[in-house]
Amino acid sequence: MKYISTRGGIAPISFKEAVMMGLATDGGLLLPENMPQVSDETIQAWRGMSYPDLAHDVMSLFIDDIPAGDLKDLVDRSYSTFTHPEVVPVVQKGDVYIMELFHGPTLAFKDVALQFLGNVFEYLLKESGEKMNILGATSGDTGSAAIYGVRGKDRINIFIIHPHKRVSAIQELQMTTVTDDNVFNMAIRGTFDDGQAIVKTLFNDIPFKEKYHLGAVNSINWARILAQVVYYIYSALKLTPDDGMVDFSVPTGNFGDIFAGYVARKLLPGSIRNLVLATNENDLLTRFVNNGEYSLGKVVQTTSPSMDIQLASNFERYLYFLYDRNAERTRGSMEEFSKTGKLLFSKTEQDRIRSEFSTRSVDQKETLETISAFFKETGYVLDPHTAVGVSGGLARLEKGIPMICLSTAHPSKFGAAVEEAIGRPPEMPSSLQGLENKETRCKVLDADVQQIKEFVTQNAL
Ligand SMILES: *Cc1c(COP(=O)(O)O)cnc(C)c1O
Repeated sequence: MKYISTRGGIAPISFKEAVMMGLATDGGLLLPENMPQVSDETIQAWRGMSYPDLAHDVMSLFIDDIPAGDLKDLVDRSYSTFTHPEVVPVVQKGDVYIMELFHGPTLAFKDVALQFLGNVFEYLLKESGEKMNILGATSGDTGSAAIYGVRGKDRINIFIIHPHKRVSAIQELQMTTVTDDNVFNMAIRGTFDDGQAIVKTLFNDIPFKEKYHLGAVNSINWARILAQVVYYIYSALKLTPDDGMVDFSVPTGNFGDIFAGYVARKLLPGSIRNLVLATNENDLLTRFVNNGEYSLGKVVQTTSPSMDIQLASNFERYLYFLYDRNAERTRGSMEEFSKTGKLLFSKTEQDRIRSEFSTRSVDQKETLETISAFFKETGYVLDPHTAVGVSGGLARLEKGIPMICLSTAHPSKFGAAVEEAIGRPPEMPSSLQGLENKETRCKVLDADVQQIKEFVTQNAL
């Protein structure tokens, strides 16, 4: 399988090259050149497979330059860190099914992709003899999942910037209690946006970027999307043992997770029906589907902070398909968007978008009400992100079709909002207990490019 850019500016490259490239060098996003066809026999064989076995088989359709035995080993190691034997169990609660994606080391769904990406990076760097210094800024979840993805790995150092005292206490501890030699936490006296701006400046400093082999772990890496495709297929086949369709509801920010569902549906069109795109008040994507307008709004802070996003970094991948793989047009639209902050879609395109996604924007009041009502009805505690998806799923329920709601975080990660909804704090899983007594390591710096650059230079591989 070869990979191309949504903007058409690169010659086709292999999977390994696509992983190391991250963002395409022409500014676009990487996608497989074509979508594999999955035969009925293959689907039959997939039913009942364990999660790691299925992950290997699905990924093999998209990866032909890593030997099967090596890929199996990478996948097995990536999911052996999950504490549930099924890796991503699906439980029926009330009228919906909840797919629990939070049994990885940092208790959020990003582990599913970043445990795998960390292992793939290490494998490829060993093969090439190169090294990498990962640099990123986080508002909480991505940073800890990335740190846990590469802690202790050879040939990789990771530098994660978070805004000092502006992430939750648990999120801060999840990052700073990782004291492996290759992990460097930087807390800056500033905001998440300051951190992101510094990272962007350093990635644009080409001599610096090349000298230190800077790498990124944001959700534009194709390997992350690919790892996420697997759980859609796993749960769809699990709930349709012989035949039939399922719907999914996905709490979305960057369009990454729901785009993985879109790819899964291309592989299994006979099993996956509706994709419900659920957002919080940051409703860029619901406005896109409902009004045919993709336009920047102001970021609102909510109780589901990992979806407080007004620029969906994976949107361009869907746009490319919406334009029937016309890279020229995709490039033109993205250029227009960067100038005007706005894209408009024709009536025909709007009809197509609405046939591919249902939507729901769920405000904070409704989110807390969903947590509370769901708890009363089923005794099950939802985190606020998951509650946004469950609210969307309940609104789109259809008789006879299982609705699978993706649970993207364990409720204890967002305990304050949960306590407000149900009147008591959620139970702490053992991995979070006693964190406050552990040794921590973190460098506090000003929100200043020079200070960050110096710190990275001193500690880079
Ligand atoms: C990142 C995140 C999301 C949003 O995922 P996208 O891929 O950006 O759509 C939802 N919930 C939680 C808990 C997250 O960490």
